[in-house]
Amino acid sequence: MSAPLKNDRIQWLQGPAACSSVKCSAAPVVAKRPWRLVLLGAPGVGKGTQAELLTERLNACHLSTGDVFRAAGKRSDSDQTPAMKAALEYMRRGELVPDSTVWEMVRERSSCLLDCNGFILDGFPRTLAQAESLRELLESDQLSLSAVVNYELPVKEIVQRLSGRRTCEKCKAVFNVKERPPKAEAVCDHCGGRLFQREDDRPEAITVRLETYERSTAPLIEFYKNLGLLAPVVAQGTPDEILARTLETLEKLHELESRSGGVAGDSRNTTRDQAS
Ligand code: ADP
Repeated sequence: MSAPLKNDRIQWLQGPAACSSVKCSAAPVVAKRPWRLVLLGAPGVGKGTQAELLTERLNACHLSTGDVFRAAGKRSDSDQTPAMKAALEYMRRGELVPDSTVWEMVRERSSCLLDCNGFILDGFPRTLAQAESLRELLESDQLSLSAVVNYELPVKEIVQRLSGRRTCEKCKAVFNVKERPPKAEAVCDHCGGRLFQREDDRPEAITVRLETYERSTAPLIEFYKNLGLLAPVVAQGTPDEILARTLETLEKLHELESRSGGVAGDSRNTTRDQAS
């Protein structure tokens, strides 16, 4: 990944001050149009990996609520607000953080969303209430989503991916002990950082996360389908294969929109339902 995009991600992790003080460096260089995407899919389908690859290809900002919570968890005890401490407890158990805490955190960073030349939301929204808040925020700036990519994968493969997942503590690159092992055990191929297993990738937390997903997040599929925004993508294969499938799906959406005169992610786009 190129340096400027990493910066954007760091700004988002650092919080509102960093977001509002620095103009987004993912401003349009190669992208012809801003893509405003939400990535949906059960934990472990590979949203984070795809978000990074898409960020690079579409020249957008990558915003991951899970990353923000994990970064907050690394701060010293005195630097954590009571709400953030409570949020980290929910996260450790594999449960969803309350909507109010998540929304506070996203709203504080809304300049990152509104000022960027497109964004990839990974892990947000996760409930209908969050989806509604996002819609209101975008509408307040005459913006709308371009598409909601829904990654689909059988549960058996999801469990295998989650339990084998290892993340680099320095550059956040993701490996899998079975599917994508690092060259040296527990060492990142890219930066030499130590690889760790996320607390919520332990078997007890995985079960809770999958149940929570079914209960709270799966209804978003219907919600976005009804808005004509849903773009299903099979999440089997290598990350590059899944990326190619995603780009193809987005390209088709774009072609359909161009033919019907709409512009994705623009408030003038009222043709999505007819197009899909
Ligand atoms: P995954 O998609 O693999 O579960 P994430 O990194 O997106 O991983 O999220 C990790 C955890 O962070 C979630 O299980 C949840 O506890 C918390 N979290 C992240 N985003 C949200 C959100 N939008 N709403 C509620 N909780 C969230």
